[in-house]
Amino acid sequence: MSEKNVGDALRKSLFYAPKNGFDTWSADDEASCGLYCEDYKKFLDEGKTEREAADFAVELAKAAGFRPYIRGMELKTGDRIFRENRGKSLMLAVIGEMPLKRGVNIAAAHIDAPRLDLKQNPLYEDSEQAFFKTHYYGGIRKYQWMAIPLELRGHVSLRDGGFVRVSIGGDKNDPQFTITDLLPHLAATQNKKTLAEAVPGENLNILVGSRPFQDDTGSDRVKLTVMQMLNEKYGITEEDFISAELCAVPAFMARDIGIDRSMIGGYGQDDRVCAYAALAAILATGTPRKTAVCMLADKEEIGSEGVTGMRSAAFDTFLSDICHSELTPLRICYENSHCISADVTAAYDPKFPDVYEKRNSSKLNYGISLCKFTGSRGKSGASDASAELVARMRFLFDQEGVLWQMAELGKVDQGGGGTVAMFMAQRNIDTIDAGVPVLSMHAPFEVVSKLECYMTFKGMNAFYEMI
Ligand code: MN
Ligand code: MN
Repeated sequence: MSEKNVGDALRKSLFYAPKNGFDTWSADDEASCGLYCEDYKKFLDEGKTEREAADFAVELAKAAGFRPYIRGMELKTGDRIFRENRGKSLMLAVIGEMPLKRGVNIAAAHIDAPRLDLKQNPLYEDSEQAFFKTHYYGGIRKYQWMAIPLELRGHVSLRDGGFVRVSIGGDKNDPQFTITDLLPHLAATQNKKTLAEAVPGENLNILVGSRPFQDDTGSDRVKLTVMQMLNEKYGITEEDFISAELCAVPAFMARDIGIDRSMIGGYGQDDRVCAYAALAAILATGTPRKTAVCMLADKEEIGSEGVTGMRSAAFDTFLSDICHSELTPLRICYENSHCISADVTAAYDPKFPDVYEKRNSSKLNYGISLCKFTGSRGKSGASDASAELVARMRFLFDQEGVLWQMAELGKVDQGGGGTVAMFMAQRNIDTIDAGVPVLSMHAPFEVVSKLECYMTFKGMNAFYEMI
């Protein structure tokens, strides 16, 4: 062997050289990926809020043979159950062959996404235009929400215990909404402000009407028209906004992106792209060896707080109810369990090389991204998965033909992000982050690669079968 060939052989055996998935995946994978992504886009369009996503997931679960789990119900191997938490979060399980004291495999994703929530007293009129005041939910770059089409979706709880579901803008015959922006001709002063300051949160007011109520000389005639129409359609009065959860979400439908259709653009893919993978995989699971659990959580974007967030005891209650059927203490189940915190990471964007560290960023089409740690500024807020667990995942994914890569969200000191991983780890569950890399994360229109959507589904499948 010449010296050059020796070097090449050594390089091949010693260097880590991840590959683009398009150069390595099978024709079977490519065909399955196409079908999977069509279903995924439907999930995105149907579930633009956590309530809608939970409802749609319940429909799919019922169709796949899952039934509501009531405390005390007898459970046997192969049983497929779910429990909805207050209509905003969903837990599913398939009872495995092995006893619960051997632990369970949990995939935990979130179904809430950044959006503009209406305030509790939202409707006002100014200069004969009517507006909804908003308080944004989750981390948004405010300027991205100006001058785009918006829909109104949500839920109004009424004093008599009833409720109405609101959805305006999704149907092609519906009107839509928008937040008007300043014309460039008059933007000289605003242009001097920083991106963070240019759009104050209190200016994110949604235009909802301009027609004055006729044959009337009183005040707020445009507001009156809007309220009259809402009353006709939904039977609500202004006071009902107080007990409502209404939000404005981007009116974009999920679409293929690129001449080659290799990507999907859509709203709320953080984290519905992983939520759908975790859900679709558990629905497709037969009888796993360990019990498989899928958690679709709410409130991740605001710190996993609240009764429907990952910090809530609702998850512990669900699992302890299941454990009770085998008289297994929950803590013993937990200490032998594993969790994939299935959440998105930032894909390397060559337009912004300054904020990414190329050697450790996840690359589009290189596969599901494992994050050993998330957090920021010295890994603060990370659960930091153990080397042992990372090694297990490498082995599992390689064995099951799941294309994977390692990922770190951005440069050290540049920022960072968190997921539900730390709240699972606090329960004494071995946890690692894994999910789909996203371009334009948290923007009204986010982009993911189809290959990675599918590989994440495949990864979840493999994980539910792990022993
Ligand atoms: Mn997320
Ligand atoms: Mn997020």
